Amino acid sequence: MRIAVISDIHANLHALETVLAAVDAEGVDALWCLGDLVGYGPRPNECVALMRQRADVCLAGNHDLVVLGKIDSSAFTGEASAAATWTRRVLDADSERFLAGLEPSARAPGAELFHGSPGDPVWDYVLDKRTAFSSFRATTAPLVLVGHSHVALEISDRDPLQGDQAAAGTVLELDEVRRILNPGSVGQPRDGDPRAAWLVIDTTSRRATFCRTDYPIELTQAEMREQGLPKALSERLAQGV
Ligand code: ZN
Repeated sequence: MRIAVISDIHANLHALETVLAAVDAEGVDALWCLGDLVGYGPRPNECVALMRQRADVCLAGNHDLVVLGKIDSSAFTGEASAAATWTRRVLDADSERFLAGLEPSARAPGAELFHGSPGDPVWDYVLDKRTAFSSFRATTAPLVLVGHSHVALEISDRDPLQGDQAAAGTVLELDEVRRILNPGSVGQPRDGDPRAAWLVIDTTSRRATFCRTDYPIELTQAEMREQGLPKALSERLAQGV
């Protein structure tokens, strides 16, 4: 079985469409999304509709929950908060209903999925070996999939823990060792590579491959300007930070 894992779409439709085309070309059997479908970007309803149609497993992220008014936005920066307010205003009833049915964690065959971390699936980040250590202790599945940081990452539960950020094209042989994998972000990468990030897990060949796909960043930036979304949010897309 081949599974595509995506996360942190952030209403960036051009990035999402490009990734889905690449996923289709790979011919996967399932698509799992780790949350943050909306927030920051200009096309929330279209991105939610695509995930409603396409995702076999879909989590809610902190931005989704803030936009729904389910959690407090006081941890957000001014720009994130302004974008959340804009998103709440334009979100249609179908999108709201779909997002309202999502949870920030889930189980799937061979994997535990969290938007943030096992300890706090809404707000916590797994960014390094220290946070990975407690995440391994809090879970039992061979694969622990997380999003939220917008940084592609792989850490294996060896003694001591091993792993780091996962650059484009990184291929892991999935042996008996447990792994934490973060596919990176589709719609707002922050690891210095502005291309849309995603991950393919092949449970037959036991490989995980970190992928990056070019998308027309300038089209998303133009839409953000048109909607009056904060300038800093559109500028960062070109840098991947
Ligand atoms: Zn996010």
